Amino acid sequence: MKFADLHLHTQFSDGTFTPEELAGHGARLGFAAMALTDHDTVEGCARMAAACAAAGIEFIVGAELTAEHDHTEVHILGYFLDSQNQTLLTEIARFQAVRQQRIREMAARLNELGVPLEVESVFALANCRSPGRPHVARALVKAGLVSNLDEAFERFLKKSRPAWVPKARMSAVEGMELIHQAGGLAVMAHPGLNRTDDVIPALVDAGLDGIECFHTKHSTAMSERYLEIADKFQLLITGGSDCHGFSKGKPLIGGVKLPYEHVEKLKSRVESRKSKAGTGAASALDPRPSTLG
Ligand code: AMP
Ligand code: ZN
Ligand code: FE
Ligand code: FE
Repeated sequence: MKFADLHLHTQFSDGTFTPEELAGHGARLGFAAMALTDHDTVEGCARMAAACAAAGIEFIVGAELTAEHDHTEVHILGYFLDSQNQTLLTEIARFQAVRQQRIREMAARLNELGVPLEVESVFALANCRSPGRPHVARALVKAGLVSNLDEAFERFLKKSRPAWVPKARMSAVEGMELIHQAGGLAVMAHPGLNRTDDVIPALVDAGLDGIECFHTKHSTAMSERYLEIADKFQLLITGGSDCHGFSKGKPLIGGVKLPYEHVEKLKSRVESRKSKAGTGAASALDPRPSTLG
């Protein structure tokens, strides 16, 4: 039986593995296919593609966009993206700038609280364009200002804690449009974790292609529920570990094994969409400006 992990992070966002290390874990576990889904970036995909090719693993270019619909935070996974797509690159660069500014605001809040964290130490540790709260947490641990990552989140960084700063998010509908115009499929990430059930029908109407039924933080009952929802709305099914590196001594990769038949279905959908776009060539040459500002 062939398996895939379609939700993975590297050092290009808030994971701790390099693409080569991640591909190495995938090879060790015998995965047939892997997708890289770093937050708001596709930068790691070239190295991940090369590392997967060397290990005989099929690689899918992906990204995880932080978005919202009706004030609900929704993470949208994009798969089979054209990593050179200029509109995609321009838009995600804007959200990377938002992430960087948010790190400055979180550091300023911490400083006001009397926690002497230097913002440059966070950027140095993150060493990527798409920094996030885990980098602030790791910098706090490194500076000896908290004893572990849990303490950093519990005391300062969790929602509504004193150093938490809300993040400007793109609309989920625009996020899906961004993914589609870059040739990709748009999938709702971990609906059980973000409690996004109420927005599923609206996003399906707006073009949602799939739903992540299998995820480390989904119980068996949750996965079954989302499989039923996938069936009801005719959505493609995905799954992944959401591995960010070592977590409590071992990596999450290997904990979720998506049967490869779902990868086949994703590929068929991408192919049929490409051939449709090819026959109605107007779409590629459409002179109208994008609605994405
Ligand atoms: P951000 O995108 O900057 O808001 O950071 C979100 C990331 O922080 C998630 O992808 C998780 O990896 C991590 N995270 C969120 N909440 C916690 C928590 N309570 N403890 C540890 N990590 C967390
Ligand atoms: Zn993350
Ligand atoms: Fe997520
Ligand atoms: Fe993720």
